[in-house]
Amino acid sequence: MSKLALYGGAPVRTKPWVSKYMGSEELGEEEKARVLKVLEKKRIFRYFPAGLEDSECSALENEYKSFLNTKYALAVNSGTSALVCALVACGAGPGDEVIIPAYTWVATAAAVAMLGAVPVLCEIDESLTLDPQDFARCITPRTKAVIVVHMRGISAAMDEIMQIAKEHGIRVIEDAAQANGGVYKDRMLGSIGDAGCFSLQQAKVITTGEGGMLVTDSEELWQRAVLYHDGAGYQFRFSERKIPAFPGQNYRLTELQAALSLGQLEKMPSILAQTKSNKKKIVQGLKNQTKIKLAPVFGTDHDLGLSLIFYVENGEKARAAAEALTAEGIQAFQVYDGVSNDQHIYINWEFLVNKADPWGGHYPWSLTPEAEIAYDENTCPRTLELLNRAVQVHLNQMVTDEDIEDLLQAVDKVAAHLL
Ligand SMILES: *Cc1c(COP(=O)(O)O)cnc(C)c1O
Repeated sequence: MSKLALYGGAPVRTKPWVSKYMGSEELGEEEKARVLKVLEKKRIFRYFPAGLEDSECSALENEYKSFLNTKYALAVNSGTSALVCALVACGAGPGDEVIIPAYTWVATAAAVAMLGAVPVLCEIDESLTLDPQDFARCITPRTKAVIVVHMRGISAAMDEIMQIAKEHGIRVIEDAAQANGGVYKDRMLGSIGDAGCFSLQQAKVITTGEGGMLVTDSEELWQRAVLYHDGAGYQFRFSERKIPAFPGQNYRLTELQAALSLGQLEKMPSILAQTKSNKKKIVQGLKNQTKIKLAPVFGTDHDLGLSLIFYVENGEKARAAAEALTAEGIQAFQVYDGVSNDQHIYINWEFLVNKADPWGGHYPWSLTPEAEIAYDENTCPRTLELLNRAVQVHLNQMVTDEDIEDLLQAVDKVAAHLL
């Protein structure tokens, strides 16, 4: 076995590893034409009464409805906005608790806290998604909703989660920001819970720079979300309002972004076919590598193949393996290293750890029995332990068979020396 590049040996490859971006890598003539068409129309705001039905935003909503097979869709300006609207739609607010996984983008927690509900952290399991058993443990009489996050393109255990939620009368919001286009047992992610939320920010599967989508089968939830996304615009969306009025925000999506997103949506199936097939090859290739561990869900149809994560014996080995892989030309990192400020890990959400609100106080914790709640190393120790010994490599649709060979060779080499 040749010497590790980390110690001066020849690296497996010298070519840079692929970028972590996906949809934006595909931007081309079609998207240009779609955006130019909007400029030529000079109709860049969505809710002009003329042409309301064939606005770009309406077209995008229609595509999501048919793509996901849901009754309603609402285009918004970010994934965070979609989560906020979904929480408002479900009635989550002051006095409520909302269960979220300890591993998700910080926006999931911030959306809950900004509405005055208390985020309750739930452990993830090795699938990187909500652990159903721990979810059950987190439920109290104040639990209003759970936000299930399909992290890194991996479908959470929806059957178990839906069953538990149903037994306790809890609303289920799917955060599919990282799993646009994912499936779970023949159902599209985002269409299984009470509401599904997507992000179209650049780090996601497809992108329009900034943007989001909310889907639901409930007319009531949809009307409430519409009301919140635009304090006045609901009058354009339904002739009969079936819910009482309340104040809204402005979370509207622009026509330019919607047009750009339509082009991206068209390309999504082929992007995902490629990432899924790549991931299957990688997982197959790592099957006999006994020094690392993969979750059973990795490389299955419940995994979009957006990144490779594997587990090693302990955090020290994970750090060493990530360093050594990077030296071999495969850019890798330890998911939780206790140093970098990765905002996907709850312990790095400073406002939550301090229970801090924007006004120098501790709202909403100060108003409820949750004043006692703590967010520290002991809140979700299993999540931290798991992520501490997790090594991650970004993947995308540009990964070639040659890249896969390099990756497998580098993992074997590093495993033989260090694991
Ligand atoms: C990106 C992301 C969000 C927020 O989406 P934005 O469009 O950036 O507001 C929410 N949840 C998860 C899991 C994400 O990855």
